[in-house]
Amino acid sequence: MPSPVAHSLVSMALVAPKPEKEPWVKWVGFWVVMGNFADLDFIPGILIGAPSRFHHGLSHSLLFAVSLAVVAYLLYPAFFKGHRAACWPFLAVPFSHLFLDMMTRDTVAPYGLPLFWPFSHHTVRFPFWVFLNMNRGTRFHILFSWHNLAALCLEVVLTFPFFAWAMSRRDGLNLLKPAWRKVVRDARRWIRKKGTV
Ligand SMILES: [Zn+2]
Repeated sequence: MPSPVAHSLVSMALVAPKPEKEPWVKWVGFWVVMGNFADLDFIPGILIGAPSRFHHGLSHSLLFAVSLAVVAYLLYPAFFKGHRAACWPFLAVPFSHLFLDMMTRDTVAPYGLPLFWPFSHHTVRFPFWVFLNMNRGTRFHILFSWHNLAALCLEVVLTFPFFAWAMSRRDGLNLLKPAWRKVVRDARRWIRKKGTV
């Protein structure tokens, strides 16, 4: 897995626009938690002194990602004073977590993610990696090692341009919305053209 830094940067590039008058901290917090939620499976392992014990379990499945999206979508108006947002960022953010994890060097069994849990326990990963693994442990020298620093730098180099590009979009951090609108507009045009032939 990449660190929360990569997950957070990519998540923030995919989020719904900030509702007016809502504090930035609250809004960023909501999406950063969404983007990192799957890795809460570290907590039970940390409590028993073996952080990786339950990692890459059911919280790294497609079913969990969709369930998280539905729950977050339903809770969103309660968090943000009745404000509603398009549904795609709620899916894009947890899916980006799985995508990034599958592109990360995995050195701890089970290798890959149980994407199709509970239908299959087979783990899936890409045949290549672009992110270095973070060494995990409860000891200071493992967490704050040169290896982890290098992994962190690589993550920032790879994900920050995407985040910065999304930030520079006209409607804020919302990257996919204009792209999606264009796809829908083009599809409508195409259908209309076919109808007149
Ligand atoms: Zn993860």
